[in-house]
Amino acid sequence: MIDVAVVGGGPVGLFLAGLLLKAGATVRVYEQRLSRSSWSRAIGVHPPSLSALAELDLAEPLTAAGIRVRRGVAFSGNRQLASLDFGALDHPYPYILAVPQTATEQLLMSKTHAFDDAALQDGVQVTGVALGERSATLSLEASGCAHTARARWVVFADGAASHSSNRPGMHSRHKTYAKHFVMGDFADDDALGQDALLYLERAGIVESFPLPKKQRRWVIRVPLPQAAPSSDVIAKLVSHRTGLRLDPQTCTMTSGFTPHRAFVSTMASGCALVIGDAAHEISPIGGQGMNLGWLDGAHLAPLLLKSLTGRDIAADLAGFSTERLLAARRAALQAELNMTLGAPFPGPVLSARNLGIRLVGKTPAAATRIARRFSML
Ligand SMILES: Cc1cc2nc3c(=O)[nH]c(=O)nc-3n(C[C@H](O)[C@H](O)[C@H](O)COP(=O)(O)OP(=O)(O)OC[C@H]3O[C@@H](n4cnc5c(N)ncnc54)[C@H](O)[C@@H]3O)c2cc1C
Repeated sequence: MIDVAVVGGGPVGLFLAGLLLKAGATVRVYEQRLSRSSWSRAIGVHPPSLSALAELDLAEPLTAAGIRVRRGVAFSGNRQLASLDFGALDHPYPYILAVPQTATEQLLMSKTHAFDDAALQDGVQVTGVALGERSATLSLEASGCAHTARARWVVFADGAASHSSNRPGMHSRHKTYAKHFVMGDFADDDALGQDALLYLERAGIVESFPLPKKQRRWVIRVPLPQAAPSSDVIAKLVSHRTGLRLDPQTCTMTSGFTPHRAFVSTMASGCALVIGDAAHEISPIGGQGMNLGWLDGAHLAPLLLKSLTGRDIAADLAGFSTERLLAARRAALQAELNMTLGAPFPGPVLSARNLGIRLVGKTPAAATRIARRFSML
C-alpha cells in the first residue's frame, strides 16, 4: 500500500508529490498522457507560489527561466492611466514571474524524478477509484493493460476536465462566462520593456506580457468565440486597438478561450481529496489558477504527512477545504472584476472607468493594495 496516490501529473499534482516525496512519503502520480503539449496555458507565477516552490529549491531555477515583471501599466487611447509597482512589494520575491507552464512542468517533473524515479507514472490512466474507510483502491489502465493500486490517500489533481462532480460528496457547480478571448505569442524586440501592459480600449481590453526568448503574449477580448484564430487576425486586432504592430510570421502559438468557473462543494471526503483546477476552476484573466492549486498543495502536504504518523486529521481537512475554497472564490471574484473592467464600453462609461483607474493609481495606499491583490498577497 502506498501513502498517497495522486491522479494527474499537471503542475499541481507534481508540486504536491514533490513536497510529500521530500518528506519521505511513498507517492505515485498517475498521468494519462505519454507526452506533454508544447502549448503553454499559465505564464504568471506569483510571490506566494515562489515561496512555496522554494521548499523544493525550485524558486531560483524557475526565476532564472522566466522574466521578472515588476510593473503593470494601464493605458487607454495612447494615454497612461495608472501603474502598479510589484517591485515595491514587501516580499522576498517582489515580482510576478512570467514563465511558460511547459517550462514550469519540466522543472517539477525533474524534481519528482530526482526524489524517486518511479513516482511519476506517465501513460497510466486512472479509470476508477473505490473509496474504503481507511484506504482507496485505484483501477489503472496502461497500454491496454488493467491493474490496481491501493493507497492510504487519493488526491485528485486531474484538472478542470475531470469528473469531480461524480465523486461522492464532491458535487460541483459550473458556470460559463459569456466573455471570449483570443491569444497569441509573438516576437518582441524589447521596445515594450519588461512590464505587463493593459490597453483598456473602447472595443475591449488588450493585455500583453513579456515572455522569455524575446517573446510577448497578447490576450485580446473579442465579441464572439474563436477556437482557432489566425496570427493575422490577432495582429490586426492589436494594431486596430493599440496602434502597435506585430509580425504574424513570428507567432508561435494562437488560441481562443471562453472562461469557466467551477467549484466543488468540498475538497475532502473520507480518504479522497481534490485540489487544483479539479476543485476550483476560475477565469484565466488574472492568472491565478495554477497558483491557487500550488497553494492547495502547500496547505495539504503537512496535513497528509501528519496523518501518516498516525494522527487524526479529519478536522484539519475540513478547515483546509473551507479555507482553500474561500481563497479560490476570492480569486474568482478578482478575475470577474478584471473581466468587467476590460469589457468594451461606450464613450461616457469608458471615460468614467478611466477616471476611476486614474484616481486609484494616484492614491498610493489603493495602488499598493491592488498590487498586493494582483500578486496574491
Ligand atoms: C489560456 C490560459 C491561461 C492561463 N494562465 C494562467 C496564469 O498565468 N497563471 C495561473 O496561475 N494559471 C493560469 N491558467 C490556469 C492554469 O493553466 C491551470 O490552473 C493549471 O494548469 C491547473 O493545473 P492542474 O494540475 O490542477 O490541472 P491540469 O494542468 O489540467 O493537469 C491535470 C492533469 O491530470 C491528467 N489527468 C486527467 N484525468 C486523468 C486520469 N483519469 N488519469 C490520469 N491522469 C489524468 C491530465 O492529463 C493532466 O495532465 C491559465 C489557463 C488558461 C486556459
